[in-house]
Amino acid sequence: MRYQWACATHTGLVRSNNEDALYPDTSGSTEGTALLMVADGMGGHIAGEVASRIAVETARDIVGNPGRRVLGANNAILLEVAQHPDLAGMGTTMTLVEMGEDGVGQFAHVGDSRAYLLRDGILRQLTEDHTVAAEYVAAGRLSPEEAMTHPQRNMITRALGLTQNLLVDEFEEPLMPGDRYLLCSDGVNSMLTDEEIADQLAADTPEEAAWALVEAANAVGGHDNITVLVIDVES
Ligand code: CA
Repeated sequence: MRYQWACATHTGLVRSNNEDALYPDTSGSTEGTALLMVADGMGGHIAGEVASRIAVETARDIVGNPGRRVLGANNAILLEVAQHPDLAGMGTTMTLVEMGEDGVGQFAHVGDSRAYLLRDGILRQLTEDHTVAAEYVAAGRLSPEEAMTHPQRNMITRALGLTQNLLVDEFEEPLMPGDRYLLCSDGVNSMLTDEEIADQLAADTPEEAAWALVEAANAVGGHDNITVLVIDVES
């Protein structure tokens, strides 16, 4: 399998700093295995940036499957807080995929960043948000549209850095030539509907799609940091 990806990250138009982190942070391609992830940090002062950076660097370097990478990142953040109590309360989301030479994508996910698949023109959200509002949707108490403006849409129920007993969502997706995958922080999907995301994601190249998403989120206000990884499965 050959994979080609492009990345883009932007502070947005409201926040003063970018608490998102991503890997890789440059565009590229490979014939082998591709490891890609986004993390959206939270916490006061600089803590959010610290948490997302530790998460990405640790998950990148750990040897193991995607779930082990996320758990290792969680432990690294907890250790950092134990050594630096001023960072207490910091945490991060993480959405990670390892695309193998065997043509299978192994995903691991915690929080409200997202993975999407655009296949044959149809956009599908692969991850479930770990937020209060998303749990209401799953329980049938809210529609997806109502959840987009619900006051608890940003209230995260799971994140790295909060507990050693972290529950990580893990799943596999068979990769098909022509698939386009998106990993993004919620600065994309809090500003754009799935239909708008699908429109921008359908741009010719991963690079064009990545920056089209950033520009579209900023065009409607850019209320949050915006981070995207767009990955094409070529053959
Ligand atoms: Ca965010």
